[in-house]
Amino acid sequence: MTRYDVKDWDVAVDAIRSAKSVALACHVNPDGDAMGSLLGMSLALQTLGKPTYPTWGSPRVAAPPSLIFMPGADTLVQPAEVPEVDLFLALDCGAAHRLGEVEKMALEHPRSINIDHHPGNDNFGTLNVVVDFASSTAEIVAFLLKDVGVEFNHDIATCLYTGVVTDTGRFQYGNSSPETLRLAADLLSYGVQAPKIALEVFESAPFSYLKLLGRVLERATLFEAERFVYSWITRADLDDTGVGADETDLLIDAVRATRDADVAAIFKEQKDGHYRVSLRSKGSVSVGDIARVHGGGGHELAAGYTAVDVESAVGAILKFLRSE
Ligand code: 5GP
Ligand code: MN
Repeated sequence: MTRYDVKDWDVAVDAIRSAKSVALACHVNPDGDAMGSLLGMSLALQTLGKPTYPTWGSPRVAAPPSLIFMPGADTLVQPAEVPEVDLFLALDCGAAHRLGEVEKMALEHPRSINIDHHPGNDNFGTLNVVVDFASSTAEIVAFLLKDVGVEFNHDIATCLYTGVVTDTGRFQYGNSSPETLRLAADLLSYGVQAPKIALEVFESAPFSYLKLLGRVLERATLFEAERFVYSWITRADLDDTGVGADETDLLIDAVRATRDADVAAIFKEQKDGHYRVSLRSKGSVSVGDIARVHGGGGHELAAGYTAVDVESAVGAILKFLRSE
């Protein structure tokens, strides 16, 4: 197995190996990679006899419906239940604020490791294992655990595989390196049920999701010259259809599926009236740059931020695209 060329790698491996108790947090509104790296790491450390406290910084931590199947999902703890520990691990957080309510806990901890793959990560840990070319945080976790000396099993491998398969868009994006696929093959050898994971993550939406998707596709708007497509959902759409806000991650994949656009966006109204923006690029534009200009972040081809309203956000994105 390969070790990345990261300055803090060996110290991080030692810190993980020698920790007596470990708190772990991924970013708020976790996706498959956030929860996969969180629970994969947590279950692995438990096999070494370490008490672990996996969480994230939301008022009420609960696995989103499409990820409830993950081994260890029943071991999540609320942020307030995290005791004093000697190591804090932040997973898949491109910036400290992505930790939400546990940001302070992480920043004040005397020993924290920031394990992540977002370009522009602000190195908020006392140790930083940031590999921006890794497909997923789960991939980094897998190689860390190999060096720590953990024996993988079905549950650990299932979590890590879920992280890799989601962040690579089922191995279709450019971040799937030969190394990524070799890791996936290795994980499958522990009895990971890849078809079951695919079903759970990508095809388990409630019927009402199809109705919400219908609204999104109906509203999709194309700017031909800028090769930009976008759509949106409001709180009323969620109320009318009965779809949960945590079941809307895949909407952007439908919006981006046109050859007439290189950049796709979906705007999701939040409780406070602001909009979460999800951006995707097919390669010609770095949407991470757009997101960072607006106080968000992410990767070159997948990024996000929060906007005040749809109209002005669309205007700002078009302006950026015209200036490219
Ligand atoms: P998504 O559109 O799936 O929510 O996010 C796409 C990518 O951008 C993910 O890698 C996610 O971690 C990152 N991202 C989304 N929103 C933000 C944000 O507000 N700040 C930062 N730093 N990254 C974000
Ligand atoms: Mn990730």
